[in-house]
Amino acid sequence: MVVVLKPDVPVEKRNELIKEIESLGVKVQVTEGVEVSILGLVGDTSNINKYRIASNDIVANILRVQEPFKKANKMFKPDYTIIEVCGRKIGEGYFTVITGPCSVESEEQIEGIAKAVKESKAAFLRGGAYKPRTSPYAFQGLGLEGLEYLKHAKKHTGLPIVSEIMSVDMLERFVDDVDIIQVGARNMQNFVLLKELGKTKKPILLKRGLAATIEEWLMSAEYIMSEGNDRVILCERGIRTFETYTRNTLDLSAVQAVKRLSHLPVIVDPSHATGKAWMVESMSKAAVVAGADGLIIEVHNNPSLALCDGQQSITPEEYSLLMEKIEKLVEFEGKKLVF
Ligand code: PEP
Ligand code: MN
Repeated sequence: MVVVLKPDVPVEKRNELIKEIESLGVKVQVTEGVEVSILGLVGDTSNINKYRIASNDIVANILRVQEPFKKANKMFKPDYTIIEVCGRKIGEGYFTVITGPCSVESEEQIEGIAKAVKESKAAFLRGGAYKPRTSPYAFQGLGLEGLEYLKHAKKHTGLPIVSEIMSVDMLERFVDDVDIIQVGARNMQNFVLLKELGKTKKPILLKRGLAATIEEWLMSAEYIMSEGNDRVILCERGIRTFETYTRNTLDLSAVQAVKRLSHLPVIVDPSHATGKAWMVESMSKAAVVAGADGLIIEVHNNPSLALCDGQQSITPEEYSLLMEKIEKLVEFEGKKLVF
């Protein structure tokens, strides 16, 4: 339920109403708009007498929210959320590109890629230190050593870092070392992990689950937000369908759906969505025009020798050419490229 207040309501009157509503066992989330404020009611609203609240002279309107997600809901917060990380903005009006290898393989590898993509206007450096692999025999990541190499690369290039967390026991380390904590598709419904991430103040990049509906994905964002962390960035990375030609099926329409349902930023991962390096350029360009707030792209200095996801990785040279085109499209869309 959303209570829209009349313009310029005195704070005391607003607080009285909040107290009255909260005494009925629901939490009230206040959103201050330019002119009007909105009270988002979170919890079991069945005890709330809509007519009693509507009769209060500071109330302009009451809306029932159908969707189960509240804090992530655009009705609760009509203005798009812009998340600032290390001076770089992510959200509506901006276009932010996160680039780097699937996994950190060596100090030289991550340093070399970081330097190259920084030249080509990457805003963040990505790299997995812990890798969720289908096979237990496949490369699992360098672990803490990988995080150290990422930190060195950050020091040398100034690029903030994005890396995937796999379990709660690594939380403290990730909070200290990483600028945006990535939750991979396979962990999108690891609710224990989501709740713990919600207790931090770190920005979270929440990838869509392998076969998650948009509502399930937004409910996972809600898990993080319900614990107090509203710095969630969504990432469409393709979903599993009957099609096997591509690794996944990129659901570009999800970008617009999320933009309508939620105020949270949404970016696109053309690498995992297609699994094919030669499709990354076209899907990246399509993502800009589809309204995405950014991209996460896998780049490797030598894709044929990559320890993970080489077939979908583009080279730094290809990335540079791609970014020239992306920059033009971002400008065409009236947005600002962040780097
Ligand atoms: C990744 O970003 O390397 C990754 C494992 O992605 P996803 O969780 O989307 O499969
Ligand atoms: Mn990968």
